[in-house]
Amino acid sequence: MQYFLETNITYLQGVGPKRAELLNQELGIQTFRDLLYHFPYRYIDRTRYYTIAELEPDIPLVQVKGYIKGYYTEGQGKGKRLVADFQDETGTIKLIWFKGTKWIMGTYVPDVEYIVFGKPGVFNGIVNIIHPEIEALEKVTTRISSALQAQYNTTEKLKNQFITSKTLSKFIGSILKQLRYRIPETLPSYLISGHNLMSLHDAIHKIHFPSGNAEIERARYRLKFEELFYIELNLLRFKTIRSRKYKGFIFSNVGEHFNSFYYNNLPFSLTEAQKRVMKEIRRDLGSGRQMNRLLQGDVGSGKTLVALMSMLIAIDNGYQACLMAPTEILANQHYNTICQMLEGIGINVRLLTGSSKKSIRKDIDESLRDNSLNILIGTHALIEENVIFNNLGLVIIDEQHRFGVAQRARLWEKSANPPHILVMTATPIPRTLAMTLYGDLDVSVIDELPPGRVPVKTMHFTDPERNKVFGFIRKQIDEGRQIFVVFPLIQESEKMDYKNLEDGWDTISRVFPAPKYCITIVHGKMTPAEKETSMRLFKEGHANILVSTTVIEVGVDIPNASVMVIESAERFGLSQLHQLRGRVGRGNDQSYCILMTSDKLSKEAIARLEVMVRTSDGFEIAETDLRLRGPGDIEGTLQSGIPFDLKIASLGKDGQIIEHVRNIADSILAKDPMLKNEENFVLLSELGRLFSSKQSWSNIS
Ligand code: ADP
Ligand code: MG
Repeated sequence: MQYFLETNITYLQGVGPKRAELLNQELGIQTFRDLLYHFPYRYIDRTRYYTIAELEPDIPLVQVKGYIKGYYTEGQGKGKRLVADFQDETGTIKLIWFKGTKWIMGTYVPDVEYIVFGKPGVFNGIVNIIHPEIEALEKVTTRISSALQAQYNTTEKLKNQFITSKTLSKFIGSILKQLRYRIPETLPSYLISGHNLMSLHDAIHKIHFPSGNAEIERARYRLKFEELFYIELNLLRFKTIRSRKYKGFIFSNVGEHFNSFYYNNLPFSLTEAQKRVMKEIRRDLGSGRQMNRLLQGDVGSGKTLVALMSMLIAIDNGYQACLMAPTEILANQHYNTICQMLEGIGINVRLLTGSSKKSIRKDIDESLRDNSLNILIGTHALIEENVIFNNLGLVIIDEQHRFGVAQRARLWEKSANPPHILVMTATPIPRTLAMTLYGDLDVSVIDELPPGRVPVKTMHFTDPERNKVFGFIRKQIDEGRQIFVVFPLIQESEKMDYKNLEDGWDTISRVFPAPKYCITIVHGKMTPAEKETSMRLFKEGHANILVSTTVIEVGVDIPNASVMVIESAERFGLSQLHQLRGRVGRGNDQSYCILMTSDKLSKEAIARLEVMVRTSDGFEIAETDLRLRGPGDIEGTLQSGIPFDLKIASLGKDGQIIEHVRNIADSILAKDPMLKNEENFVLLSELGRLFSSKQSWSNIS
């Protein structure tokens, strides 16, 4: 039976090698199973007929009854087309064909009542349908059994080979007809009955050929349940296996270095949230299990301090620690902050980045090996190149939500006894999304900002109001404050974006002329040394304004900066805007974020800007982002954790189901960690089918 589903679609009647190749290329469909899992994206109610008077180009797909009143051609050369006037008692529309015109004229004749099906458009004020589907009314009434007709995604190339949504529906129907047994169930029976799910067999039938909306809903739920359940089960199982396989270093002491820092060097007291998170981390570090923890906290919530204290615990127990940042600028900044905070504690901290000189590297290599180096700070280079620690006990990864499951796995695989890992992120992610994005991690949250922070005031201005904004900036500079001006830089429009950056820079330089004002710039085309010089000018307070692209997005800490101007703010995503805004408001004075946009904005852009003006709660912003945009980037990142495209569920919209199935997977693994019980046999075999060939990191047993 399984074999039947694995049959190559070449052998399906009406397909053959050429179309099979095309279906694979265009939709990734190779087997009968793939076709059955090519789900409709919507259903058309074929019992509903529009009258011609009702037609508008905004309606997606319509069905009209009427008569062809005669053919004629319009246009010249490539635009030449066959037109038919199509009429019912309420009016006339044009049916248009660019291809296959002879056949059309021969097939569809006047005085037969037809049903025309397609997407209405409009040209010169007259409604038309281009390349409609046409069928004689008589035939349709005798044939259509299901009122709701499934619509499938196809592509231009497929349509050119006459594989339309209707063709796919036929293929699927014919596979279902050939089935001689029920489609084998992929969930254990106790889940089906316990959660009142449709069987897989029924769900597959009903999703393609439903008889009503309720049935569609039940089928969709069952299929989403299954898809998400296996993703969560896979993540949790991986976590279970890992924790059984790897013993963690035990950091049992909180010793001299930690205490000396805590009592002598810490300039403020910890927030309650920081204390709680430190407790969670210490519990992990002393447990004998390897820590894999995610630390979520909004910008400015004080994650660096938590990182530092965790590293001190590692050192007090005789281990080395490293801290990895996504950019050189940030690595530098961490290095400086941490050196400053550790003054007089007697800890050897070094910085290693792509631009470190050979002699320094050599020196670092030696001190790593003889264990005289305690903390190494740097960029990706830290783990990817031949950096050999003597005794690495803790790895901290900062601001790296792009550091996916696969990359983390590389860290574990580096040694039989992998270090503890703490991943820090300032991108608040809705809980259910985090469950999957970081499904293999435990999560800690800092949900409190250090006291005395004044929330940033956010304002939205359009280009015509620019002079007002400049006036405001001038006042802030007079008060001794500093200003960020950020321009978008997107690869696809890089040239234009650099042009805008240049123009912006010119304008600002004119409005704020030297020598009275000092303006500096940072962008991606500068060398690291140039960037460093520019940043320093600003950091040390010599420059009043820093003009930059998004390189400053993450982490840069300049407490005296009070205004963040974001140019073309409509082009940024919400989470990016939130990150950028987090660069100000780090001191105790009122800070401002100014969103500059053109005065022509899409509805969605307006909604985004409104949220920014209304709230500074990172989680609320993340939820809104998810609602407006779908998980977008984040979902892309997820692909490192999920080796296939989701067919029916959405990580953004199906949060409730994710939470539900994760709990279920959790309790199954609690009772049967290796899935050895007979009733769970199907789970193991499905996991194997879905994941093992495509994903090396799940094979670590
Ligand atoms: P992020 O979480 O964005 O990395 P940082 O660790 O850079 O935040 O901290 C932001 C600022 O808040 C730093 O200047 C840091 O010294 C300060 N800070 C951190 N913890 C506290 C605290 N408990 N009380 C007061 N200030 C703090
Ligand atoms: Mg930080």
